[in-house]
Amino acid sequence: MLGLMQSQPLLISSLMEFAARHHGDGEIVSRRVEGDIHRYTYRDLAARAKRLAHALDALPLAFGDRVGSLAWNGYRHMEMYFGVSGSGRVLHTINPRLHPDQIAWVMNHAEDQVLCFELSFLPLVQAVHKKCPMVKKWVMLCDADKLPADSGIPGLVSYEDWIGAYPDTYVWPQFDENTASSMCYTSGTTGDPKAALYSHRSTTLHAYAAALPDVMCISARDAVLPVVPMFHVNAWGIPYSAALTGCKLVLPGPAMDGQSIYELMEAEQVTYAAGVPTVWQMLLSYIGPKGLKFSSLKRTVIGGSACPPAMITAFQEGYGVEVLHAWGMTEISPLGTLCTLKNKQLKLPKDEQMKILQKQGRAIYGVDMKIVNGEGQELPWDGKTYGDLMVKGPWILDTYYKGSSPLVADEYGQRWFPTGDVATIDPDGFMQITDRTKDVIKSGGEWISSIDIENIAMGHPSVAMAACIGMPHPKWDERPIVAVALKAGAQVTREELLQFYEGKIAKWQIPDDVVFVDAIPIGATGKMLKVRLRQELKDYVLPTL
Ligand code: ADP
Repeated sequence: MLGLMQSQPLLISSLMEFAARHHGDGEIVSRRVEGDIHRYTYRDLAARAKRLAHALDALPLAFGDRVGSLAWNGYRHMEMYFGVSGSGRVLHTINPRLHPDQIAWVMNHAEDQVLCFELSFLPLVQAVHKKCPMVKKWVMLCDADKLPADSGIPGLVSYEDWIGAYPDTYVWPQFDENTASSMCYTSGTTGDPKAALYSHRSTTLHAYAAALPDVMCISARDAVLPVVPMFHVNAWGIPYSAALTGCKLVLPGPAMDGQSIYELMEAEQVTYAAGVPTVWQMLLSYIGPKGLKFSSLKRTVIGGSACPPAMITAFQEGYGVEVLHAWGMTEISPLGTLCTLKNKQLKLPKDEQMKILQKQGRAIYGVDMKIVNGEGQELPWDGKTYGDLMVKGPWILDTYYKGSSPLVADEYGQRWFPTGDVATIDPDGFMQITDRTKDVIKSGGEWISSIDIENIAMGHPSVAMAACIGMPHPKWDERPIVAVALKAGAQVTREELLQFYEGKIAKWQIPDDVVFVDAIPIGATGKMLKVRLRQELKDYVLPTL
């Protein structure tokens, strides 16, 4: 017997309509490429998303066709999020930090027919447009008077001119909620980038889940600043959860340096922010020496790579800001786990709580997870045994766009996505990543967690960033070394740093050497690029040999 409830498709346009009707005057504040601050409301956003939908219809652009964006976090990008997907097309957010050849590659692979790009990316588009013959409309996300006269890009129009010609009333089409809504390519650190193709259903369910109290806890009382970019994995779904909750949304545009972020937070009384550790490192290094404090910030979600415990302590002890450690991936929309304490853990001593809060956290309803050994057998949740982390759920990838399915079936026929991460899960369900599978260091038959080694180094007051990699060793297979970039003006010797490890991990896990570098290489999504570090250190020889 079927239930007798309405079966309305979960569509991204319904988030926009809800926002316009129920919190239409909610504010969206954006720092523009031009440097000024732009303000408008969810009602304005909905009206302009409708103009965009008309403009796409008029091109004409067919249902399901791809529209690329090369844009920062800002109101026009928000309009694309809702106008492109809401009208049945697929938004392809492109990471501008990829190499131009890779950008052309992903645009051709996605078959983008429209590209909307920000003023700051004009040189990039000038470099790639000839390689993208499928694009039939080039649009610059700017006012008409900012459009360069001789860009060399055929038919280039300003976004304002383009959408301004159309009315702000539009009836959003209704269609199957499993229709594709947006797509995002992985950073391609291992081979050609692969795309996750999200659906209206997966995105809407993820938006609900992301707002839950034990997840990002986004409400109408918050002023939310996603520093995490809208060009990568939908800014962790915040644009959609914002429309769902009606929080004030503060979008930083291109200015992600510590000073700009701090000033925006203070000016707009931001209560909640989200970003990767490298961004927060910049913020802390800006405010620390100046003795500045946050007057409104209460919570920050940190994820994308392991959040060093020293950063959690700095935020919590130094500034009274709660840190929520999160884990996710492009392929999982991206949220998988988030670390918040359970009721029974509230009375634990601070250091016990800290041990829990360092973990990547508990699975969100909608994400089922397990760890398995090399034979695919499930491993115990004892907080010690580590294995390959597998996940499944309605916002987790089944098959790559134009590619194959990476899913692995278990003995019950359930299909799981292998994350490529190695993790432990404790009896309370808190998952902790020890490594990417490809970064695991195997020494004398035992695994050493590179994240543990990095976290300890980053707990040293002189260290800005640390990356641990394994070096070949004839007796032990591999031994860890730690590459370290120091804070400006700080000093520490190799011996002092190695001593710093004593008592914190087992002796055999202490790295064999410290290599001082000017900077740890960072990839397109703000994560350490260990592949490049390994290349840079290809002639390195362990001192223990
Ligand atoms: P890419 O495009 O490089 O695949 P993703 O953003 O999808 O980028 O990266 C996902 C990976 O990032 C995860 O599989 C994991 O290795 C790492 N990661 C994400 N969050 C965390 C975290 N909190 N701690 C440790 N690693 C993390």
